[in-house]
Amino acid sequence: MTRIAIITGAGSGIGYATSVKLASKGYTVIMGDIRDNIQEKAKEVEAKTKGKAIGLRVNVADWNSCREFYESALKILGVDHVDILVNNAGIIRDALFVKMTPEQWDEVIKVHLYGTFNMTKQVVEGMIKYNWGRIINMSSASWQGNIGQANYAAAKAGIIGFTKTLARELGKYNITVNAIVPGFIDTPMTASVPEKVRNMIIDRIPMKRMGTPEEVANIIAFLSSEEASYINGAVIEVTGGLVL
Ligand code: NAD
Repeated sequence: MTRIAIITGAGSGIGYATSVKLASKGYTVIMGDIRDNIQEKAKEVEAKTKGKAIGLRVNVADWNSCREFYESALKILGVDHVDILVNNAGIIRDALFVKMTPEQWDEVIKVHLYGTFNMTKQVVEGMIKYNWGRIINMSSASWQGNIGQANYAAAKAGIIGFTKTLARELGKYNITVNAIVPGFIDTPMTASVPEKVRNMIIDRIPMKRMGTPEEVANIIAFLSSEEASYINGAVIEVTGGLVL
């Protein structure tokens, strides 16, 4: 049986690497992103993996957009549910709290927290119907607090509470819900970090390097698999040992 996976924020970084990994393992991948080039990105994944990927534009912060995205995906594939959801889309709007604007707060909370809620609501009913599901939510090492990231830390801590609650509510339907806590990963999101700050963070990482998006994708692929059938409500760090 071919399992179907939705990955949000799939046009870049960790989401793109996860799409490549899952498609190469034989999953059908639905790549969602706010970027206009998401269809081309899906074609790229298909060419790289010889697997199946479709790309659809979505704004995870918007309920109606998520609804339309999910309905379109089901229609294109001719199915009535998906098996796996990776809530990965994300943004940062860093500022010290004294300078943080309500807009910076809202944007980050909307993409991460509303985004995770909006997309999870689409898929859960279908997973319950088939008594099988995997939901993987992207948190961050910043959930424990990070200077300049009150908005992001609040959202990422919220995602852990959301994950643990859903794990309790949905476990009886054979749906596992887990969170990943990446550390400092080399993606476009971290590309703008000034070199001095980058080196300071790397110095605090016991492995003395950034992680790669593929190293995060590997654990997402494992949590998506049959082998991870009894891992539920877990928060898994992929940080090289970094503690912020
Ligand atoms: P990235 O910027 O490379 O990718 C994020 C993707 O999300 C982009 O393609 C972007 O277009 C998409 N996106 C943004 N807003 C969206 C929206 N409203 N709707 C749909 N798509 C949207 O970043 P990344 O580093 O790959 O981050 C992926 C996830 O991992 C994020 O949730 C991020 O917070 C988390 N994370 C990253 C790091 C890191 O060091 N890179 C560390 C911890 C957690």
